[in-house]
Amino acid sequence: METFLFETPRPALPIRGVEPLFPVRRIYCVGRNYADHAREMGHDPTREQPFFFSKPADALVNGLPSVPYPSATTDLQHEVELVVALHSGGRNLDAARARDCIYGYGVGLDLTRRDLQRAARDKGHPWDMGKGFDGSAPVSTLIPASACGHPRSGRIELSVNGQLRQQGDLSDMILDVEMLIGRLSGLVELRAGDLLFTGTPAGVSALQPGDRIEAAIDGVAKLDLMIAPSLDG
Ligand code: MN
Repeated sequence: METFLFETPRPALPIRGVEPLFPVRRIYCVGRNYADHAREMGHDPTREQPFFFSKPADALVNGLPSVPYPSATTDLQHEVELVVALHSGGRNLDAARARDCIYGYGVGLDLTRRDLQRAARDKGHPWDMGKGFDGSAPVSTLIPASACGHPRSGRIELSVNGQLRQQGDLSDMILDVEMLIGRLSGLVELRAGDLLFTGTPAGVSALQPGDRIEAAIDGVAKLDLMIAPSLDG
């Protein structure tokens, strides 16, 4: 039996109506998968394809009433996204095999330090510090596909302090869920436990300490989260 010098927490998500937790292996994300959001970020969705990036698995947040406003930013922004949870994987998956890999769905927030992300983009630096900081991946309880089906249309929205900020429809994705899984599986081997954030519709905007976020995808899940004061005072 192997032993370890110390233990580290294993990221996991609860599943609605199911006792065991869903163990999270990796968190992948896609950028600019809704045309209206690509445009609001200053890009032409007819000329540029969506692309992938990742967050550390332990950036996952679930079951907490709040996350602290992160360090080193003055422009924390929300991005509401359909999150896909995989119970199997593979390489170079076609659409049918991609669908077979899907365990279920949730709603997630791709929290972004927009100022750091923009600075990195402008300098040709990696996005990690803009996207992959502590607490940057809040995700709801998962709903098994056996309960919610495979939602490919339906409203996705986010409100802050009761005011609607983001609203779109899952059918507005440029690359649908099966295409995303297929393309990603050509870049890396996907495995059980992987999560995929599938991109955000328009309306991303800044958050402040004290803000209450309500995110929802019709027929899938809801997520409530407060932004707490910064740990840096
Ligand atoms: Mn995003």
